[in-house]
Amino acid sequence: MGAQRIDGKLIATKKRQAMKSQIESMKQQGYVPGLAVILVGEDPASISYVKGKIRDCKEVGIYSELIQFDVTVSEKQVLEQIEILNANDKIHGLLVQLPLPDHISEQKVIQAISPEKDVDGFHPINVGRLVTKQEGFVSCTPAGIIEMLKAIDVPISGKHVVIVGRSNIVGKPAALLFLNLDATVTVCHSKTKPLSKYTKQADILVAAAGSEALIHANDIKPGAIVIDVGMNRSASGRLVGDVAFEEVKEKAGYITPVPGGVGPMTRVMLLENTLIAAMRQHEKAGKQ
Ligand code: NDP
Repeated sequence: MGAQRIDGKLIATKKRQAMKSQIESMKQQGYVPGLAVILVGEDPASISYVKGKIRDCKEVGIYSELIQFDVTVSEKQVLEQIEILNANDKIHGLLVQLPLPDHISEQKVIQAISPEKDVDGFHPINVGRLVTKQEGFVSCTPAGIIEMLKAIDVPISGKHVVIVGRSNIVGKPAALLFLNLDATVTVCHSKTKPLSKYTKQADILVAAAGSEALIHANDIKPGAIVIDVGMNRSASGRLVGDVAFEEVKEKAGYITPVPGGVGPMTRVMLLENTLIAAMRQHEKAGKQ
């Protein structure tokens, strides 16, 4: 029997629907959640991601601002713009689209964003909050994976979760989230040898390596839940994941498609983080 497909697109659509009424009630309370996105340069992928973020905001009723800089902008100018947005009451969430040109330090930029507006969850204070299980913001992709598993009622506690990838934005925060939910977590990376020794043990396998067809059917346990984060361009130009979908779907219990799996969940979690930021800031302002 083949795996059940986890429809991230559908789960995300339902979440956006629910958000619309949540935003309406915020408006009735006198505030509108706001997101600002800073884009530097003209990288086509970045432009397309940013456009998608602004479009998503419009769809659900989040106020949005896009601040575009030429690729030659100085680091100082970007940092000054962040300061302005940190102090802007209409803006509750703020992100700078990565990657940045070499003359701008990503770490400096990330650390300039107010942790209370850091809806990407990249600020070291938010990473620290995740490590210590405190309230903060979590990177959208791993948060979207957990949301997806909750939507299909998959229990996480006690499960062995194997994550392939240890990046700051996907692998590491995913490992911490699963650990905080009482899973047993193994993190693999490019020096893990042999990779399949570990992936075969997974009840839940998260593939986030950025390597086409890295995971084959003989790399998984029968019935495993397979979450494919990868976004790669195949030789024919198609968007494909890290998992050889056609063969793995015959052996897995659940599987996410690419596209239509983790991608839409990542997008919707940015909206969710913006709503949370707005609620927290509104509540805090009310107490002052
Ligand atoms: P990075 O390149 O930052 O990290 C990749 C990680 O995978 C590294 O830890 C690397 O190991 C590990 N890795 C690479 N090749 C192998 C291999 N052959 N075996 C085992 N481990 C390997 O990528 P990101 O974390 O940013 O993204 C990962 C993938 O997810 C990409 O395809 C990206 O496009 C996609 N992505 C998708 C999103 C979505 O919304 N669907 C959002 C974000 C990312 P090492 O540390 O040793 O180098």
